[in-house]
Amino acid sequence: MTKTQLLKENAGSSARIGLESGRSFLFVGSNAGVICDEILALVKRVNCLDEEGNSKSDGYCDTCKNCRMIEKKQHPDVLWLAPSIDTASIKIEDIRHLKEKVYLKPYQAQKKIFVIENAQRLTPQAANAMLKILEEPPPDALLILTCENASQLLPTVVSRCRLVRITQDKAGPETAVDDLKKIAARFFEKSDVFSSNRLIDELCLLERREVETVLGEVLFMLRDGLFLKLNARDCALMSPEFKADLERWVKFYCASDIQMLLEKVMRVKDFVRGNANIKIAVDSIIKDMESARCG
Ligand SMILES: [Zn+2]
Repeated sequence: MTKTQLLKENAGSSARIGLESGRSFLFVGSNAGVICDEILALVKRVNCLDEEGNSKSDGYCDTCKNCRMIEKKQHPDVLWLAPSIDTASIKIEDIRHLKEKVYLKPYQAQKKIFVIENAQRLTPQAANAMLKILEEPPPDALLILTCENASQLLPTVVSRCRLVRITQDKAGPETAVDDLKKIAARFFEKSDVFSSNRLIDELCLLERREVETVLGEVLFMLRDGLFLKLNARDCALMSPEFKADLERWVKFYCASDIQMLLEKVMRVKDFVRGNANIKIAVDSIIKDMESARCG
């Protein structure tokens, strides 16, 4: 596991994130995998059921029912909200849905936790609809937002959160996001058995959460591919740096195939999160991409 340093915005010293009731958090950092690890650790600390005192120094046991479900992102009291794949935004309807749930009692955990990933993708209406709940979450709820850079968010959102900067230990083995994006882009190169196997081998060397990040990038690229197919403007693209590669790639696919691949990769990403064999999972994506390709 990569060592991370948690720095309080004003303190400048390393600090374990504690729970302060009535505060929402904004996790800021460029590595989505590391941020996810930190959030999972925080959420486990809050909800660990370990009463035997077996907790690790991190403050959770990692083996109780809650810790295991949280790790797989399957805990009913921990809700993850990410930008929708079709619009790449978090809309006001999503926030209305969240607000319906935020006042309900947790099912089995101490606290209900709402994680809003890539909060810079909140539409202005959605962000404004959240202000009150960010300011004053119910006592048994906790809101966590993530983004790469706080300047991407409305100041009214940032000022209502406790800022937690996640800086990655440079000596750590974690793969940089840009490198993960490059791996994702290789799904869109013309492949043969040799290059496919090399891609699979490379993915098998990554941490499971990094594979999830790669598949997330593949989803964004597929979405961009669909947009290119429909002659969308460049500003609609999530990964404009790969536009030329994607333009070459989309010539071999019709829109309905790309849609099918989007659904496929979404399913596989869930399987990977749920501990599926990474080699088999990735291989099935490559095979589907090959069989849908015309020419
Ligand atoms: Zn536990």
